[in-house]
Amino acid sequence: MKYISTRGAAPDLTFEEAMLTGLARDGGLYVPAEVPAMSHADIAALAGLPYEEVAFRVMRPYLGDTFTDDEFREIIAKAYAGFGHAARAPMVQLAPGHFLLELFHGPTLAFKDFAMQLIGQLFQASLSRSGDRVTIVGATSGDTGSAAIEAFKGLDAVDVFILFPHGRVSEVQRRQMTTPSEANVHALSLTGHFDDCQARVKDMFNDHDFRDGVKLAGVNSINWARVLAQVVYYFTSAVALGAPHRKVSFTVPTGNFGDIFAGYIARKMGLPIDKLVVATNQNDILHRCLSTGDYIPDGVIPSISPSMDIQVSSNFERVLFDAYGRDGKAVSQLMDELKAGGFTVSQGALQHLQDLFVSGRASEEETTATIKALRATTGEILCPHSAVGVKVAQENLDPAVPMITLATAHPAKFPDAVEAATGIRPGLPPRMADLFDRDERVTRVENDLAEIEHLIREKIAN
Ligand SMILES: *Cc1c(COP(=O)(O)O)cnc(C)c1O
Repeated sequence: MKYISTRGAAPDLTFEEAMLTGLARDGGLYVPAEVPAMSHADIAALAGLPYEEVAFRVMRPYLGDTFTDDEFREIIAKAYAGFGHAARAPMVQLAPGHFLLELFHGPTLAFKDFAMQLIGQLFQASLSRSGDRVTIVGATSGDTGSAAIEAFKGLDAVDVFILFPHGRVSEVQRRQMTTPSEANVHALSLTGHFDDCQARVKDMFNDHDFRDGVKLAGVNSINWARVLAQVVYYFTSAVALGAPHRKVSFTVPTGNFGDIFAGYIARKMGLPIDKLVVATNQNDILHRCLSTGDYIPDGVIPSISPSMDIQVSSNFERVLFDAYGRDGKAVSQLMDELKAGGFTVSQGALQHLQDLFVSGRASEEETTATIKALRATTGEILCPHSAVGVKVAQENLDPAVPMITLATAHPAKFPDAVEAATGIRPGLPPRMADLFDRDERVTRVENDLAEIEHLIREKIAN
């Protein structure tokens, strides 16, 4: 299995190389040269299996000979052992034909644990074999960073630096990043937006001296191994509702396009997915682009679903690559235009995207109203991101096809928004009830590449 860059000018890599590298050297993202198919019978055979076994069968073909089957099974077992639910990704029903896939039972209460816990174990297995040491740098709008710090803390072959936008993450998110005491994890609070954090991480990867000097590795949602881990729960949930004998649809609260891209991969592998619905908050660049073809960032407006407050949606490049017939030059040109203000998707590529995705948006008021209404009609308390999904899903229900909306975080991660909508302040699960009593450790940084690189070099030298 080979991995190729979406910009067509970086070397092909193996799974292990692509995982350790993150961003390609030409600025592109790695994708598998071919997506392996699962037959109708392969998918039918997943019914009733534990999450870990489905994970093994779905992901195994992507790894080539990186690990033996036994090694990979052990990695998966360790990754999901810390989850607070035996099903890992359980489902509840919201209405006739509408289901909620709860992806928030991991150690930091958001779906990002599914990928990050796995990637932590994959890195550890790979680096302990080679004896190498790497520096992981990531940008976060809140949930990626806490998931990464939780997954990598204490691993001896890795230093982790997470950039988050100062004052723009929830207190639970911040504390999950700043309270782990392990010396190899560092939370950096940057003056700016998430897009600034993400841009500085990209800059570090494009600074090849720095990149090679500190052995930079990335675990943001651009890392292929993360997308891959997220493909699994599309299979477990669809099969639970009758796939492959029946089609299902998914609605995905979307920011960086990683989670929904995993659904796109599941469909390419053969899972019978009818609609894939992209749900955005008021930062609706993806909805606008899928509607009109214009991808023109116009500034982030902070919302009550901050993990989706994104204007430059990294993984969208992966689907553009397919929409442009895997023409790396064309993608490269679009990304140059984006730096200069924005781009317009060609008519043919837009048609392709509209055949693949439906989209919708939820305003702040609609999000709050949905949290309130769902509490009243089902007793379920949604986090604001999941509520964006549920609102957009409700507009796309079809009596003939069950809809699965992804619940991307636990409501206790965003207690203010939930309390404002319902009057109820959701509590943290008992295993993290002391979060507000733990000491915090954080470094303030300006939105300045040289300053950040200097800090990282200094910290890893000690
Ligand atoms: C990251 C995140 C999202 C957006 O996921 P993408 O893969 O970036 O599209 C949605 N909700 C929550 C709670 C998140 O943490």
